[in-house]
Amino acid sequence: MWTAALPPGAAQRQAGDGCVRAAPPVMMPVRPEVKMAKRFVDDGRTCEAFSDLFLVQCPRCQGCASVRPLHKPVPSAPHLPMRRLTCGTCASTQEWPRADIQPIGYSIHRGPVDWYFNRPLWLQTPCCGHVLFAYNSAHLGYLEAFVSADLRDVARHHNQSLASRLPQWMQLQHNHGEVLRGLKRLQARLPEA
Ligand SMILES: [Zn+2]
Repeated sequence: MWTAALPPGAAQRQAGDGCVRAAPPVMMPVRPEVKMAKRFVDDGRTCEAFSDLFLVQCPRCQGCASVRPLHKPVPSAPHLPMRRLTCGTCASTQEWPRADIQPIGYSIHRGPVDWYFNRPLWLQTPCCGHVLFAYNSAHLGYLEAFVSADLRDVARHHNQSLASRLPQWMQLQHNHGEVLRGLKRLQARLPEA
């Protein structure tokens, strides 16, 4: 690609007839803009790593409620502590005391519900003939980073990470535009911090 540019210090030249004329343009090469490839590196996080907060539909007022652990979770089993559902709109609360669930996320298509109260997730939208969902803002950011990347280093060797278990339709290149638009819709539904 080339563009016209004046050489430094030669903006104008005096011609032999005494008239001042603009110097002829010199063709200068323009360096094409280099687009840095966006890379997603699988850090091995599983779906349990995002289970510290589920945004759900409140069972009483249908507004946005949150499901959080009552105690600080241990890193090896972040999904196990007791949970409390709290609605900031109607002040409804519920507690879930059991600690024997086997959480399953996208891998088995449990569906867009939280793992404890089975409430519909607040962040869900139809997408590519499926339901695109996220538990919370961090989960949403993770999915956005995965789908918008040009290159993906997915740790498939242990087949445990969330990235390695995303459904096929989310991984197909030709669906990425629609998935990104779906993620934007979910972003717009996030409650203000
Ligand atoms: Zn409520």
